Amino acid sequence: MNFQNIVVTGGAGFIGSHLVEALLKRGYHVTIIDDLSTGKWSNISHLEDNPNFRAIIASAADTQLLEKEIPNHDLVYHLASAVGVKLIIEQPVKTVESIFHTTDVVLKLCSRYRKPVVITSTSEVYGKSTTVPFSEEMDVVMGATEKRRWAYACAKALDEFLALAHFYETNLPVFIVRLFNTVGPRQTGQYGMVLPTFVEQAVNGKSLTVYGDGKQKRCFCSVHDVIEGLIQLPLVPKVAGKVVNLGSQEEVSIEQLAQRVIEIAGANSTIEYIPYEQAYGAGFDDMQQRIPDLKRAQTLINWNPQYSLDDIIHQLVQLRKHPTSMLKHY
Ligand code: UDP
Repeated sequence: MNFQNIVVTGGAGFIGSHLVEALLKRGYHVTIIDDLSTGKWSNISHLEDNPNFRAIIASAADTQLLEKEIPNHDLVYHLASAVGVKLIIEQPVKTVESIFHTTDVVLKLCSRYRKPVVITSTSEVYGKSTTVPFSEEMDVVMGATEKRRWAYACAKALDEFLALAHFYETNLPVFIVRLFNTVGPRQTGQYGMVLPTFVEQAVNGKSLTVYGDGKQKRCFCSVHDVIEGLIQLPLVPKVAGKVVNLGSQEEVSIEQLAQRVIEIAGANSTIEYIPYEQAYGAGFDDMQQRIPDLKRAQTLINWNPQYSLDDIIHQLVQLRKHPTSMLKHY
């Protein structure tokens, strides 16, 4: 497939801004649509002078705007979304309403103008499943509706259903990517994400806040690896109508993660164990383990993560200690 002009909703966000940079480097023309609700202008301000870059500060659910923009573009990446467990727990109404509504608007307009669209989903969709690794065709195990966390998972699953419905009904090329824990420069701990929180705490000599007993495990993937996958997937026509996992398979417990961050940062910090209830309020559900099955990404686009967790932590610690020194490497 040959794309020249690309829209990225949520292009000022953590993942979006890296995607936009990478697309511009490859010579694409990029328009971002972002209302800066969780994205930040500072993530993309350095791109303002690039003649191939346009920023529109507006909601991705603005139908009139999308009516005007989508016909002039060849591909849409839909990344605009509420993010982070903390935000989702604190603003459950906005989470459910905005996620599904925005995706519905984006898909309707892409369908009207027959534009391929990449829908970024999440490993949260697998819910509480304990059958690891998680492969795209396996059953999801949703938690109780009384636990707010699962509202996000359900809203994202509904996005996937709707995108796939457009594929089945009108053959709209939809590419659904389930992103597992993604980390890297520009990610903020503001919405609850663990690695930027730990790095910030370690660099400031504060204790690292491990929730629960810290035995829960995750796999953290570099945003640079994720971006490669996001760029390659829509170039392969047979990926249309499929769900594809992108993530790392290098597992670490959250307690081990805290220890690695302290060690790499050379910090004197200690670990403070905080009960989930204190961290997220009553009735919070966490999952113990979450590993992606990568066979689809490997078979379809020959994708495998290149950065190890230690590489990532080193980069983040360096960047936090010397904010401008390493920017050129990203
Ligand atoms: N976590 C933690 N301390 C923090 C923030 C998060 O121990 O300051 C834990 C959290 O409870 C979860 C894991 O780290 O078990 C990953 O959390 P994150 O919000 O980054 O991602 P997700 O829960 O979506 O995997």
